[in-house]
Amino acid sequence: MSVAIIALNQTGADFARTVMPSIPDSLLYGLEGRTEDVDIPFQDFGETLRQLFQAGTPIIGVCAAGILIRTLASVLTNKWQEPPVLAIAEDGSAVVPLLGGLQGANDLARHLAALLNIEPAITTPGELRFRAALLSPPAGYTLVNPEDAKTFLSNLLAGESVKLIGTAPWLQQSQLPLTETGSLTIEVTEQDPTTSPSPEHLVYRFHPQAAKTGHLAIVGTGPGAMEWMSPEVQRVLRSATDWVGYKTYLKLVEPLRPSHTICHRSDNRVERDRAHLALNLAAQGRSVAVISSGDPGIFAMAAAVFEILEQEANPAWEQISIQVCPGISAMQAAAAQVGAPLGHDFCVISLSDILKPWSVIAQRLTAAAQADFAIAIYNPVSKQRTWQLQQAKDLLLQWRAPETPLILAQSVGRSAQAIIVKTLAQLSVEDTDMRTVILIGSSQTRTLARQDGTPWVYTPRSYPFS
Ligand code: SAH
Repeated sequence: MSVAIIALNQTGADFARTVMPSIPDSLLYGLEGRTEDVDIPFQDFGETLRQLFQAGTPIIGVCAAGILIRTLASVLTNKWQEPPVLAIAEDGSAVVPLLGGLQGANDLARHLAALLNIEPAITTPGELRFRAALLSPPAGYTLVNPEDAKTFLSNLLAGESVKLIGTAPWLQQSQLPLTETGSLTIEVTEQDPTTSPSPEHLVYRFHPQAAKTGHLAIVGTGPGAMEWMSPEVQRVLRSATDWVGYKTYLKLVEPLRPSHTICHRSDNRVERDRAHLALNLAAQGRSVAVISSGDPGIFAMAAAVFEILEQEANPAWEQISIQVCPGISAMQAAAAQVGAPLGHDFCVISLSDILKPWSVIAQRLTAAAQADFAIAIYNPVSKQRTWQLQQAKDLLLQWRAPETPLILAQSVGRSAQAIIVKTLAQLSVEDTDMRTVILIGSSQTRTLARQDGTPWVYTPRSYPFS
Protein backbone atom coordinates (compact mmCIF):
# COMPACT_ATOMS: atom_id res chain seq x y z
CA MET A 1 0.00 0.00 0.00
CA SER A 2 1.27 3.48 -0.77
CA VAL A 3 2.44 5.78 2.00
CA ALA A 4 0.88 9.27 2.22
CA ILE A 5 3.31 12.03 3.11
CA ILE A 6 1.46 15.15 4.11
CA ALA A 7 2.87 18.66 3.90
CA LEU A 8 1.16 21.82 5.04
CA ASN A 9 3.67 24.26 3.55
CA GLN A 10 6.38 24.39 0.91
CA THR A 11 9.25 23.85 3.36
CA GLY A 12 7.57 20.63 4.44
CA ALA A 13 6.91 19.60 0.84
CA ASP A 14 10.53 20.24 -0.17
CA PHE A 15 11.74 18.23 2.79
CA ALA A 16 9.33 15.40 1.98
CA ARG A 17 10.77 15.15 -1.53
CA THR A 18 14.22 14.46 -0.07
CA VAL A 19 13.07 11.38 1.85
CA MET A 20 10.54 10.04 -0.65
CA PRO A 21 13.02 8.19 -2.89
CA SER A 22 13.70 5.80 -0.02
CA ILE A 23 10.02 5.13 0.72
CA PRO A 24 8.71 2.96 -2.08
CA ASP A 25 5.29 3.90 -3.38
CA SER A 26 4.98 7.17 -1.49
CA LEU A 27 2.72 10.02 -2.57
CA LEU A 28 3.09 13.64 -1.54
CA TYR A 29 -0.14 15.30 -0.37
CA GLY A 30 0.09 19.10 -0.11
CA LEU A 31 -2.25 21.78 1.18
CA GLU A 32 -3.60 23.80 -1.73
CA GLY A 33 -2.38 27.37 -1.87
CA ARG A 34 0.52 26.61 0.47
CA THR A 35 2.35 23.98 -1.56
CA GLU A 36 3.30 23.48 -5.19
CA ASP A 37 4.28 20.50 -7.32
CA VAL A 38 2.76 17.94 -5.02
CA ASP A 39 1.27 14.62 -6.17
CA ILE A 40 -2.13 15.17 -4.58
CA PRO A 41 -3.27 18.67 -3.55
CA PHE A 42 -5.97 18.83 -0.84
CA GLN A 43 -8.10 21.57 0.68
CA ASP A 44 -9.46 20.08 3.86
CA PHE A 45 -6.67 18.73 6.04
CA GLY A 46 -8.94 17.05 8.62
CA GLU A 47 -11.11 15.28 6.07
CA THR A 48 -8.16 14.12 4.01
CA LEU A 49 -6.26 12.80 6.99
CA ARG A 50 -9.23 10.92 8.44
CA GLN A 51 -10.10 9.36 5.09
CA LEU A 52 -6.53 8.15 4.58
CA PHE A 53 -6.45 6.78 8.11
CA GLN A 54 -9.74 4.95 7.80
CA ALA A 55 -8.60 3.42 4.51
CA GLY A 56 -5.58 2.04 6.38
CA THR A 57 -3.02 4.19 4.54
CA PRO A 58 0.29 4.69 6.36
CA ILE A 59 0.67 8.43 7.05
CA ILE A 60 3.74 10.58 7.56
CA GLY A 61 2.84 14.13 8.54
CA VAL A 62 5.54 16.73 8.02
CA CYS A 63 4.02 18.75 10.82
CA ALA A 64 3.54 18.94 14.58
CA ALA A 65 2.57 15.69 16.31
CA GLY A 66 -0.24 17.53 18.08
CA ILE A 67 -2.06 18.40 14.86
CA LEU A 68 -2.11 14.76 13.83
CA ILE A 69 -3.35 13.58 17.22
CA ARG A 70 -6.16 16.15 17.46
CA THR A 71 -7.27 15.51 13.90
CA LEU A 72 -7.38 11.74 14.24
CA ALA A 73 -8.75 11.60 17.80
CA SER A 74 -12.34 11.05 16.69
CA VAL A 75 -11.49 8.03 14.53
CA LEU A 76 -9.16 6.16 16.88
CA THR A 77 -11.05 3.01 17.72
CA ASN A 78 -8.93 -0.09 17.38
CA LYS A 79 -5.19 -0.18 17.99
CA TRP A 80 -4.88 -3.55 16.27
CA GLN A 81 -6.06 -2.12 13.01
CA GLU A 82 -4.69 1.39 12.81
CA PRO A 83 -2.13 2.16 10.09
CA PRO A 84 1.22 3.69 10.98
CA VAL A 85 1.03 7.43 11.66
CA LEU A 86 4.26 9.36 12.11
CA ALA A 87 5.13 12.99 12.65
CA ILE A 88 8.37 14.25 11.23
CA ALA A 89 9.90 17.67 11.86
CA GLU A 90 10.24 19.71 8.67
CA ASP A 91 13.98 20.17 9.28
CA GLY A 92 14.46 16.42 9.71
CA SER A 93 15.51 16.76 13.34
CA ALA A 94 12.85 14.50 14.84
CA VAL A 95 10.70 11.55 13.83
CA VAL A 96 7.93 10.38 16.14
CA PRO A 97 5.87 7.23 15.56
CA LEU A 98 2.44 8.16 16.97
CA LEU A 99 0.10 5.34 16.07
CA GLY A 100 0.26 1.93 14.46
CA GLY A 101 3.29 0.74 16.40
CA LEU A 102 1.97 -2.76 15.81
CA GLN A 103 1.65 -2.22 12.08
CA GLY A 104 5.16 -1.08 11.33
CA ALA A 105 5.21 2.56 12.51
CA ASN A 106 8.36 1.89 14.53
CA ASP A 107 10.08 0.28 11.57
CA LEU A 108 9.16 3.19 9.36
CA ALA A 109 10.41 5.60 12.04
CA ARG A 110 13.68 3.71 12.31
CA HIS A 111 14.07 3.78 8.54
CA LEU A 112 13.49 7.55 8.38
CA ALA A 113 15.72 8.15 11.37
CA ALA A 114 18.58 6.18 9.81
CA LEU A 115 18.19 8.25 6.67
CA LEU A 116 18.27 11.48 8.65
CA ASN A 117 20.99 10.26 11.00
CA ILE A 118 18.89 10.83 14.14
CA GLU A 119 17.39 8.61 16.84
CA PRO A 120 13.70 7.77 16.35
CA ALA A 121 11.43 8.63 19.29
CA ILE A 122 10.28 5.05 19.98
CA THR A 123 8.26 4.67 23.16
CA THR A 124 6.66 1.21 22.81
CA PRO A 125 7.53 -0.53 26.13
CA GLY A 126 7.90 -4.04 24.74
CA GLU A 127 10.41 -2.87 22.16
CA LEU A 128 12.27 -0.68 24.58
CA ARG A 129 12.50 -3.15 27.41
CA PHE A 130 13.20 -6.26 25.36
CA ARG A 131 14.96 -4.70 22.36
CA ALA A 132 12.86 -6.91 20.13
CA ALA A 133 9.87 -5.95 18.03
CA LEU A 134 7.83 -9.11 18.53
CA LEU A 135 4.96 -7.76 16.48
CA SER A 136 7.01 -6.59 13.54
CA PRO A 137 9.86 -9.08 13.22
CA PRO A 138 12.75 -8.53 10.80
CA ALA A 139 12.27 -9.42 7.14
CA GLY A 140 12.31 -13.15 6.62
CA TYR A 141 10.17 -13.87 9.71
CA THR A 142 6.36 -13.86 9.95
CA LEU A 143 4.43 -14.00 13.19
CA VAL A 144 1.89 -16.81 12.69
CA ASN A 145 -0.44 -15.77 15.56
CA PRO A 146 -0.42 -11.96 15.86
CA GLU A 147 -3.80 -12.15 17.65
CA ASP A 148 -2.04 -13.78 20.62
CA ALA A 149 0.76 -11.26 20.78
CA LYS A 150 -1.07 -8.76 22.97
CA THR A 151 -1.58 -11.24 25.84
CA PHE A 152 1.90 -12.67 25.34
CA LEU A 153 3.46 -9.22 25.60
CA SER A 154 1.41 -8.29 28.67
CA ASN A 155 2.63 -11.45 30.40
CA LEU A 156 6.18 -10.66 29.45
CA LEU A 157 5.87 -7.14 30.79
CA ALA A 158 4.41 -8.64 33.98
CA GLY A 159 7.64 -10.59 34.51
CA GLU A 160 7.22 -14.01 32.91
CA SER A 161 10.16 -15.65 31.12
CA VAL A 162 10.42 -17.23 27.67
CA LYS A 163 11.75 -20.49 26.31
CA LEU A 164 13.04 -20.24 22.73
CA ILE A 165 12.62 -23.15 20.34
CA GLY A 166 14.67 -22.81 17.16
CA THR A 167 17.18 -20.09 16.34
CA ALA A 168 16.79 -16.40 15.50
CA PRO A 169 19.67 -14.00 16.17
CA TRP A 170 17.30 -11.05 16.60
CA LEU A 171 15.61 -12.83 19.52
CA GLN A 172 18.73 -14.40 21.00
CA GLN A 173 20.51 -11.08 21.14
CA SER A 174 17.51 -9.15 22.40
CA GLN A 175 16.92 -8.45 26.05
CA LEU A 176 14.02 -10.90 26.27
CA PRO A 177 14.15 -12.96 29.48
CA LEU A 178 15.10 -16.22 27.73
CA THR A 179 15.44 -19.33 29.93
CA GLU A 180 15.20 -23.10 29.40
CA THR A 181 12.28 -23.23 31.82
CA GLY A 182 10.32 -20.23 30.54
CA SER A 183 6.57 -20.26 31.18
CA LEU A 184 6.03 -18.73 27.73
CA THR A 185 7.43 -20.10 24.46
CA ILE A 186 8.58 -18.55 21.23
CA GLU A 187 9.08 -21.01 18.43
CA VAL A 188 10.93 -20.19 15.22
CA THR A 189 10.50 -22.73 12.48
CA GLU A 190 10.57 -23.24 8.74
CA GLN A 191 7.94 -26.01 9.07
CA ASP A 192 4.87 -26.69 11.19
CA PRO A 193 5.30 -25.77 14.86
CA THR A 194 5.68 -28.42 17.58
CA THR A 195 2.69 -27.07 19.50
CA SER A 196 -0.19 -25.12 18.07
CA PRO A 197 0.09 -21.34 18.47
CA SER A 198 -1.56 -19.83 21.55
CA PRO A 199 -1.24 -16.77 23.81
CA GLU A 200 1.52 -18.70 25.63
CA HIS A 201 3.18 -19.91 22.43
CA LEU A 202 4.16 -17.43 19.72
CA VAL A 203 5.22 -18.97 16.43
CA TYR A 204 7.40 -17.31 13.81
CA ARG A 205 7.72 -18.84 10.38
CA PHE A 206 11.19 -18.26 8.90
CA HIS A 207 11.51 -17.82 5.13
CA PRO A 208 15.25 -17.88 4.42
CA GLN A 209 14.91 -16.54 0.89
CA ALA A 210 13.01 -13.48 2.11
CA ALA A 211 15.59 -12.42 4.69
CA LYS A 212 16.87 -9.06 3.61
CA THR A 213 20.54 -9.08 2.90
CA GLY A 214 21.50 -5.47 2.69
CA HIS A 215 24.79 -4.67 1.10
CA LEU A 216 27.53 -2.37 2.28
CA ALA A 217 30.45 -1.59 -0.01
CA ILE A 218 33.23 0.61 1.30
CA VAL A 219 34.84 1.96 -1.81
CA GLY A 220 37.92 3.98 -2.64
CA THR A 221 37.51 6.36 -5.54
CA GLY A 222 41.23 6.96 -6.03
CA PRO A 223 42.75 10.42 -5.66
CA GLY A 224 40.31 12.18 -7.95
CA ALA A 225 40.64 11.46 -11.64
CA MET A 226 37.98 9.17 -13.06
CA GLU A 227 40.51 7.07 -14.99
CA TRP A 228 42.16 6.13 -11.71
CA MET A 229 38.96 4.67 -10.32
CA SER A 230 38.60 0.91 -10.63
CA PRO A 231 35.80 -0.50 -12.79
CA GLU A 232 34.58 -2.38 -9.70
CA VAL A 233 34.17 0.87 -7.75
CA GLN A 234 32.41 2.52 -10.69
CA ARG A 235 30.01 -0.43 -10.91
CA VAL A 236 29.28 -0.40 -7.18
CA LEU A 237 28.65 3.36 -7.25
CA ARG A 238 26.23 3.01 -10.16
CA SER A 239 24.24 0.23 -8.55
CA ALA A 240 24.03 1.56 -4.97
CA THR A 241 20.74 2.89 -3.64
CA ASP A 242 22.56 5.16 -1.18
CA TRP A 243 25.88 6.96 -1.11
CA VAL A 244 27.36 7.89 2.24
CA GLY A 245 30.42 10.11 2.49
CA TYR A 246 32.22 13.34 3.09
CA LYS A 247 30.59 15.99 0.92
CA THR A 248 33.77 16.87 -0.98
CA TYR A 249 34.31 13.27 -2.06
CA LEU A 250 30.66 12.88 -3.05
CA LYS A 251 31.00 15.93 -5.26
CA LEU A 252 33.97 14.38 -7.05
CA VAL A 253 31.98 11.32 -8.09
CA GLU A 254 28.66 13.10 -8.71
CA PRO A 255 28.88 12.47 -12.50
CA LEU A 256 28.47 8.74 -11.80
CA ARG A 257 25.37 9.12 -9.62
CA PRO A 258 22.13 7.67 -11.02
CA SER A 259 19.25 10.06 -10.32
CA HIS A 260 17.53 7.64 -7.91
CA THR A 261 20.58 7.25 -5.68
CA ILE A 262 20.26 9.08 -2.39
CA CYS A 263 23.27 11.07 -1.16
CA HIS A 264 23.98 11.25 2.58
CA ARG A 265 26.56 14.02 2.86
CA SER A 266 28.49 14.72 6.03
CA ASP A 267 31.39 16.70 7.36
CA ASN A 268 34.87 15.28 7.39
CA ARG A 269 35.19 14.58 11.08
CA VAL A 270 32.06 12.52 11.69
CA GLU A 271 33.37 9.16 10.50
CA ARG A 272 31.68 7.16 13.25
CA ASP A 273 28.27 8.69 12.53
CA ARG A 274 28.78 7.96 8.87
CA ALA A 275 29.66 4.33 9.53
CA HIS A 276 26.62 4.01 11.77
CA LEU A 277 24.28 5.48 9.21
CA ALA A 278 25.66 3.23 6.47
CA LEU A 279 25.20 0.08 8.58
CA ASN A 280 21.66 1.08 9.52
CA LEU A 281 20.71 1.73 5.91
CA ALA A 282 22.20 -1.60 4.82
CA ALA A 283 20.34 -3.38 7.64
CA GLN A 284 17.13 -2.23 5.99
CA GLY A 285 18.09 -4.12 2.87
CA ARG A 286 19.50 -1.15 0.97
CA SER A 287 22.61 -1.21 -1.13
CA VAL A 288 24.95 1.30 0.40
CA ALA A 289 28.27 2.64 -0.88
CA VAL A 290 30.48 4.34 1.69
CA ILE A 291 32.83 6.57 -0.22
CA SER A 292 36.44 7.33 0.66
CA SER A 293 39.00 9.04 -1.51
CA GLY A 294 42.12 7.08 -2.39
CA ASP A 295 41.98 3.66 -0.80
CA PRO A 296 39.20 3.06 1.76
CA GLY A 297 41.55 1.07 3.98
CA ILE A 298 44.18 3.82 4.29
CA PHE A 299 43.29 6.44 6.93
CA ALA A 300 39.69 6.13 5.80
CA MET A 301 36.22 4.66 6.24
CA ALA A 302 36.81 0.90 6.05
CA ALA A 303 38.41 0.74 9.50
CA ALA A 304 35.74 3.10 10.87
CA VAL A 305 32.99 0.70 9.75
CA PHE A 306 34.68 -2.32 11.32
CA GLU A 307 35.27 -0.44 14.57
CA ILE A 308 31.55 0.32 14.89
CA LEU A 309 30.60 -3.18 13.77
CA GLU A 310 32.71 -4.74 16.53
CA GLN A 311 31.98 -2.24 19.29
CA GLU A 312 28.22 -2.17 18.89
CA ALA A 313 27.65 -5.76 17.73
CA ASN A 314 24.14 -4.80 16.66
CA PRO A 315 22.17 -7.96 15.73
CA ALA A 316 20.33 -6.03 13.02
CA TRP A 317 23.65 -5.73 11.18
CA GLU A 318 24.31 -9.47 11.02
CA GLN A 319 22.69 -10.07 7.66
CA ILE A 320 24.61 -7.32 5.91
CA SER A 321 27.08 -8.42 3.30
CA ILE A 322 30.16 -6.23 3.49
CA GLN A 323 32.68 -5.64 0.76
CA VAL A 324 35.75 -3.39 0.62
CA CYS A 325 36.72 -2.17 -2.84
CA PRO A 326 40.29 -0.87 -3.09
CA GLY A 327 41.38 2.36 -4.69
CA ILE A 328 44.63 4.03 -5.68
CA SER A 329 45.95 5.80 -2.62
CA ALA A 330 47.30 9.36 -2.81
CA MET A 331 50.89 8.18 -2.28
CA GLN A 332 50.73 5.79 -5.22
CA ALA A 333 49.27 8.39 -7.54
CA ALA A 334 51.84 10.95 -6.36
CA ALA A 335 54.73 8.51 -6.70
CA ALA A 336 53.72 7.63 -10.24
CA GLN A 337 53.85 11.29 -11.26
CA VAL A 338 57.54 11.58 -10.41
CA GLY A 339 58.85 8.07 -11.09
CA ALA A 340 59.27 5.49 -8.34
CA PRO A 341 60.21 7.12 -5.03
CA LEU A 342 58.55 4.25 -3.11
CA GLY A 343 60.41 1.63 -5.16
CA HIS A 344 61.92 -0.11 -2.13
CA ASP A 345 60.87 -0.50 1.53
CA PHE A 346 58.69 2.36 2.66
CA CYS A 347 56.20 3.23 5.37
CA VAL A 348 53.19 5.48 5.72
CA ILE A 349 52.51 7.82 8.63
CA SER A 350 49.62 10.19 9.26
CA LEU A 351 50.59 13.36 11.10
CA SER A 352 47.08 13.84 12.43
CA ASP A 353 47.08 13.75 16.20
CA ILE A 354 43.28 13.66 16.49
CA LEU A 355 43.15 9.89 16.83
CA LYS A 356 46.60 9.20 18.28
CA PRO A 357 48.92 11.22 20.52
CA TRP A 358 51.80 13.21 19.07
CA SER A 359 54.29 11.21 21.15
CA VAL A 360 53.38 8.07 19.16
CA ILE A 361 53.73 9.93 15.87
CA ALA A 362 57.10 11.37 16.85
CA GLN A 363 58.34 7.96 17.92
CA ARG A 364 57.22 6.36 14.65
CA LEU A 365 58.83 9.09 12.55
CA THR A 366 62.09 8.60 14.41
CA ALA A 367 61.94 4.80 14.06
CA ALA A 368 61.12 5.08 10.35
CA ALA A 369 63.97 7.53 9.79
CA GLN A 370 66.40 5.34 11.72
CA ALA A 371 65.33 2.28 9.73
CA ASP A 372 65.93 4.22 6.50
CA PHE A 373 62.43 3.73 5.09
CA ALA A 374 61.20 6.03 2.39
CA ILE A 375 58.23 7.72 4.10
CA ALA A 376 54.83 8.83 2.82
CA ILE A 377 53.22 11.43 5.06
CA TYR A 378 49.42 11.84 5.04
CA ASN A 379 47.49 14.63 6.74
CA PRO A 380 50.63 16.80 6.98
CA VAL A 381 48.73 19.89 8.14
CA SER A 382 45.19 21.10 8.66
CA LYS A 383 43.74 24.53 9.37
CA GLN A 384 44.20 24.06 13.11
CA ARG A 385 47.31 21.92 12.98
CA THR A 386 50.57 23.20 11.52
CA TRP A 387 53.39 22.81 14.06
CA GLN A 388 53.51 19.04 13.64
CA LEU A 389 55.05 19.22 10.18
CA GLN A 390 57.89 21.45 11.37
CA GLN A 391 58.59 19.04 14.23
CA ALA A 392 58.47 16.08 11.87
CA LYS A 393 61.04 17.79 9.63
CA ASP A 394 63.35 18.44 12.61
CA LEU A 395 63.06 14.83 13.75
CA LEU A 396 63.78 13.44 10.29
CA LEU A 397 66.79 15.72 9.82
CA GLN A 398 68.40 14.12 12.84
CA TRP A 399 68.71 10.91 10.86
CA ARG A 400 68.49 11.83 7.22
CA ALA A 401 70.63 14.04 4.98
CA PRO A 402 69.29 17.57 4.24
CA GLU A 403 69.54 16.88 0.49
CA THR A 404 67.22 13.82 0.69
CA PRO A 405 64.69 14.13 -2.18
CA LEU A 406 61.21 15.13 -1.08
CA ILE A 407 58.01 15.31 -3.12
CA LEU A 408 55.12 17.61 -2.28
CA ALA A 409 52.09 16.36 -4.18
CA GLN A 410 48.99 18.51 -3.92
CA SER A 411 45.51 17.62 -5.20
CA VAL A 412 46.86 14.74 -7.23
CA GLY A 413 44.51 13.66 -10.00
CA ARG A 414 42.36 16.79 -9.65
CA SER A 415 42.37 19.95 -11.71
CA ALA A 416 44.48 21.80 -9.13
CA GLN A 417 47.24 19.16 -9.15
CA ALA A 418 50.67 20.58 -8.25
CA ILE A 419 53.75 18.46 -7.74
CA ILE A 420 57.05 19.86 -6.55
CA VAL A 421 60.32 18.01 -5.99
CA LYS A 422 62.51 19.53 -3.28
CA THR A 423 64.94 18.43 -0.61
CA LEU A 424 64.11 17.61 2.98
CA ALA A 425 65.94 20.75 4.14
CA GLN A 426 63.72 22.90 1.88
CA LEU A 427 60.42 21.58 3.30
CA SER A 428 58.30 24.42 4.60
CA VAL A 429 54.87 24.32 6.20
CA GLU A 430 53.64 26.96 3.73
CA ASP A 431 54.14 24.51 0.86
CA THR A 432 51.47 22.15 2.12
CA ASP A 433 47.76 21.92 2.82
CA MET A 434 45.19 19.26 3.72
CA ARG A 435 45.23 17.94 0.18
CA THR A 436 48.98 17.33 0.09
CA VAL A 437 50.79 14.05 0.48
CA ILE A 438 54.53 14.23 1.12
CA LEU A 439 56.99 11.58 0.01
CA ILE A 440 60.44 11.58 1.60
CA GLY A 441 63.23 9.51 0.10
CA SER A 442 65.47 7.01 1.90
CA SER A 443 69.24 7.33 1.90
CA GLN A 444 69.20 5.53 -1.48
CA THR A 445 66.61 7.68 -3.26
CA ARG A 446 67.97 9.37 -6.38
CA THR A 447 66.89 12.02 -8.82
CA LEU A 448 67.36 11.92 -12.55
CA ALA A 449 66.96 14.88 -14.88
CA ARG A 450 64.26 14.60 -17.53
CA GLN A 451 64.05 16.58 -20.69
CA ASP A 452 61.59 19.19 -19.44
CA GLY A 453 63.91 20.03 -16.57
CA THR A 454 61.80 18.51 -13.79
CA PRO A 455 63.45 15.51 -12.14
CA TRP A 456 62.44 11.88 -11.97
CA VAL A 457 62.76 10.52 -8.45
CA TYR A 458 63.28 6.85 -7.76
CA THR A 459 64.42 4.52 -5.01
CA PRO A 460 66.40 1.59 -6.40
CA ARG A 461 65.26 -1.93 -5.55
CA SER A 462 68.65 -3.03 -4.31
CA TYR A 463 70.28 -1.90 -1.12
CA PRO A 464 74.03 -1.84 -0.43
CA PHE A 465 75.32 -5.09 1.18
CA SER A 466 77.71 -4.16 3.95
N1 SAH B 1 42.17 7.23 1.88
C1 SAH B 1 42.99 8.30 1.37
C2 SAH B 1 43.67 9.09 2.47
C3 SAH B 1 42.73 9.87 3.34
S1 SAH B 1 43.56 10.77 4.58
C4 SAH B 1 44.00 7.73 0.39
O1 SAH B 1 44.20 6.51 0.38
O2 SAH B 1 44.58 8.50 -0.37
C5 SAH B 1 43.57 12.38 3.85
C6 SAH B 1 44.98 12.71 3.39
O3 SAH B 1 45.26 12.00 2.21
C7 SAH B 1 45.17 14.17 3.00
O4 SAH B 1 45.47 14.99 4.11
C8 SAH B 1 46.35 14.07 2.08
O5 SAH B 1 47.54 13.91 2.80
C9 SAH B 1 46.10 12.77 1.35
N2 SAH B 1 45.36 12.93 0.08
C10 SAH B 1 44.13 12.51 -0.21
N3 SAH B 1 43.81 12.82 -1.50
C11 SAH B 1 44.88 13.43 -2.02
C12 SAH B 1 45.17 13.98 -3.31
N4 SAH B 1 44.28 13.92 -4.31
N5 SAH B 1 46.37 14.54 -3.48
C13 SAH B 1 47.28 14.58 -2.48
N6 SAH B 1 47.06 14.09 -1.25
C14 SAH B 1 45.87 13.52 -1.02
